Amino acid sequence: MSIAAKQALDKIKTGNQQYVQDKEHVGTEKKIRESLITGQDPYAIILSCADSRVVPESIFDANAGELFVLRVAGNIANTSTIASIEYAVAHLGTKLIIVLGHESCGAVTAALAGGDNGYNLNHLCSHIVPAIAASESNEVNDVVRMNAKVTCKDLVGRSEIISNAVNDGGLEIVPAFYNLSNGEVDLL
Ligand SMILES: [Zn+2]
Repeated sequence: MSIAAKQALDKIKTGNQQYVQDKEHVGTEKKIRESLITGQDPYAIILSCADSRVVPESIFDANAGELFVLRVAGNIANTSTIASIEYAVAHLGTKLIIVLGHESCGAVTAALAGGDNGYNLNHLCSHIVPAIAASESNEVNDVVRMNAKVTCKDLVGRSEIISNAVNDGGLEIVPAFYNLSNGEVDLL
């Protein structure tokens, strides 16, 4: 039974505080693995960047089975990340999505620089261009924050499963910004 969005957000905040204060409770024991053999019930979905410095399970002091994590450069909503999120929303009943941008994101920096970066990176950057257009400044961290917000709207706009769950199922989607220096997550 999945917990409500508000409770999930409280857990996210508490977990981040534990992490910031170096007071993590995260466990990796065999009994935790064994308790998950028959299924999973993650309390939050995290759409994060692939950046090696941004580790959602650490940032939120979470064990295996607690977070359903998607990692892709620039934490973008593409067909595959949306489909993965739809699975957690529709089949696991998770009620909270965090779109987690972070300080000094390389993907956002690449999108801001523009130019021809080849087919694959061009495609990835094209997902960030709307955030550049919507941002009042071209400072990378401002665009990262805007990108998290735009991506939240994208998830709703591009997925019937997600939009229905927002409208009728108690699903909440929250943009956030991770500070590399102090480990704090700002909810936007
Ligand atoms: Zn990044």
